Amino acid sequence: MRAVDHPDTRLAQLVEGIVKIADGELSTRIPASPARDELDAVIAGFNLMAGELAAAQAELEVRVTTRTGMLMDALRKMELMALTDPLTQLRNRSALETVLESSLATTAVNGAPAVLLLDLDSFKEINDSLGHGAGDTVLQIVAERLRGSVRKQDTVARLGGDEFAIVLQDTPVERARVVATRIVSALAHPMRVEDTSLTVSASVGVAIPKQDDSAVDLVLYADTAMYAAKKAANSKVAVFSPSLLSTRQMRSTLAAELRNAISNHEMVLHYQPIVEVATGRLIGVEALIRWQHPQRGLLMPDNFIDLAEEIGAMPAMAVWVLETALGCLRRWQQTLPLDPRFTMRVNISATQLQRPELLDDVQRILIMKDIDPRDLVLELTEYSMVTGNEWELYSLRGLRQLGVGLSIDDFGTGYSSISYLRTLPVDGVKLDKSLLGDTSETATQRPFIAAVLQLIRSCKLSATFEGVETWEQARMLAELGCDAGQGYYFSRPVPASGINAALLEDLLTAPWRTPGISSTTGLTLNVAAYPEEPVSR
Ligand code: C2E
Ligand code: CA
Ligand code: CA
Repeated sequence: MRAVDHPDTRLAQLVEGIVKIADGELSTRIPASPARDELDAVIAGFNLMAGELAAAQAELEVRVTTRTGMLMDALRKMELMALTDPLTQLRNRSALETVLESSLATTAVNGAPAVLLLDLDSFKEINDSLGHGAGDTVLQIVAERLRGSVRKQDTVARLGGDEFAIVLQDTPVERARVVATRIVSALAHPMRVEDTSLTVSASVGVAIPKQDDSAVDLVLYADTAMYAAKKAANSKVAVFSPSLLSTRQMRSTLAAELRNAISNHEMVLHYQPIVEVATGRLIGVEALIRWQHPQRGLLMPDNFIDLAEEIGAMPAMAVWVLETALGCLRRWQQTLPLDPRFTMRVNISATQLQRPELLDDVQRILIMKDIDPRDLVLELTEYSMVTGNEWELYSLRGLRQLGVGLSIDDFGTGYSSISYLRTLPVDGVKLDKSLLGDTSETATQRPFIAAVLQLIRSCKLSATFEGVETWEQARMLAELGCDAGQGYYFSRPVPASGINAALLEDLLTAPWRTPGISSTTGLTLNVAAYPEEPVSR
């Protein structure tokens, strides 16, 4: 039997145990003595309590661990959400920049990354014609195809709208170009969206880092290259070079200047005669805008119309064009012996047609300038009508009800079908200059032109050929019974002062007119009545 320690010793053990417990040593236990006395009862109580404390502590620890885990999960999810584009589940802009920054920081070890920036070419049209739901689906399909076109270690992000970016880890420029090309063809496969099969095209800019380029710089460079790809006719992929940056800077300077061009009175209209081919009568003019730039000289519309669209300057420009052209028309009506059929033709771009305000603008300006609506013809590109947006049709019908003439511009460049021609509320067709072909091809083009004119006649529409540059072309059109012609051969676009009595007279007595040919049937083929080829005009 074990000897019972002295009560003082046992008390000392108890006190020591309490101190240890207080210190957090919850496994502390004090042996009971064989005495089984009151002290032992306290010791037993102490041991029980220590056991309870240890169990409570363990449970607490488990709970803390679970709670911490849950918190961390939530945090991770929130972080991911902050880094993810909700529509496509791709990374977003800030996530992309983070990834790019860290790969730029480790270039020495891991190799330099390449950045691709991609923009869909006509996403707005898809959204407008099929609705936003379809637009979203397209973006999701694009996201999937992008993810499928790169490796696991690469990052695909949606920067917003229809703009995507990709970071290709450790990728030299030539390889990046190959990937970009592969992506362009992956996107070119038709996709099914709400029972419609459609294809999207995209432009891709590629940039690789120079020393000290930041993530933001690189994205800007790739964006600049993408912009160049969009402008280039022959390629959908462009690699950044510093010269592109200056083009872009020039463009933004030009954009700033364009915003003030109207109020600075720098815009000018030139007018190009439209001639009844058979008689040489001036039956209208087309108003063509130019920008008299204080430093750059006279700029042609191809150099600034897209920019005006981009910066939202088009509506103001359209109003200015209508006011100026109709003001001019009013003056000519009062001072010149105009043909009763004389019309002012004004170009309306696709985006203008989508603005519900267009109708009100036209109506207001007609009243303001005291012009009969029948003396105005609006030229609308085929493309703007084929997209078939509701607003466009609304505008077209409204304009039609006003009594304004409507003509399809650039006909033959690829969009219209014959059935479409019949259903559109238009009264005339302006045939694109490309249909006349090279001036050397006039003879071989003849059956084709004849067929096109026949088609237009059968739709009971009038035909105006643009881009008539030679005597042979003028003669052919006259023989084929084309109503009207426009082109350098008759007259170049001229300032308002160039539309005068002398011009009217000049056109009437000009050598191409063919009194023997009926412009309505086009059946009389009276080559003999046609004068000899004149000396170059
Ligand atoms: P468009 O409507 O097809 O206008 C005809 C273009 O062909 C004009 O170019 C005209 O100068 C040119 N042209 C005329 N005759 C001949 C010819 O015999 N041979 C050749 N090669 N070309 C000829 P421009 O003035 O540079 O206008 C270009 C385009 O800019 C126009 O094409 C039109 O789409 C647009 N545009 C011009 N003015 C306006 C405007 O006020 N508003 C809008 N929205 N667009 C405009
Ligand atoms: Ca036109
Ligand atoms: Ca044209």
